[in-house]
Amino acid sequence: MSSTPLPPPHLQTPKHPWLKGWYQFAQRIDSPHFGPRPQGARVDLLVMHSISLPPGVYQGDAVIRFLTGQPQTIEHPYLETIKALKVSAHFFIRRQGELIQMVSCDDKAWHAGVSHYRGRDQCNDDSIGIELEGLEGQSFEPEQYETLTSLCASLLKHYPIQHLAGHEHIAPDRKKDPGPGFLWDQFQKSLGLSDAFFPSFDK
Ligand SMILES: [Zn+2]
Repeated sequence: MSSTPLPPPHLQTPKHPWLKGWYQFAQRIDSPHFGPRPQGARVDLLVMHSISLPPGVYQGDAVIRFLTGQPQTIEHPYLETIKALKVSAHFFIRRQGELIQMVSCDDKAWHAGVSHYRGRDQCNDDSIGIELEGLEGQSFEPEQYETLTSLCASLLKHYPIQHLAGHEHIAPDRKKDPGPGFLWDQFQKSLGLSDAFFPSFDK
């Protein structure tokens, strides 16, 4: 009797990509900034954001420290102004496409703030937040779209997602991210979704 040897661990595909809201292809760095979703919440919205800390700096771990409540290891006046904030996101996609998950998608991350979309308030309750390393108005890397597309394709299979929008669309009075540098048209095409999934605006 012969058996086929298993491929090396890094080439093995997890049987199920999702385990209790954790994506098995992401690096996991837990954030304490989360809470339970309201009972019966229908998680039907993906929210795209952009962030870099200090703004425009695309290396280091200041974003991860910020979103996971860890003290910063560098001094910068901007970091001082935000250090008391308790925010998080489910995912962070770095410039080279590296994917980090900080909050289980079964829980509520604190990414949206005061917000309203598809007739409902408090979008944190029933959305999944994805932060792209970048600066609002600036462009994003092809590797980031690649990771974002495969992540969203999997989320669309696993959650009853009906809407994909930017922070700027769910909190238009306060937020501008990810901004005009984000390629909505390309993103929509890569997922093969109809216009109905997206905000009605010129993509
Ligand atoms: Zn945002």
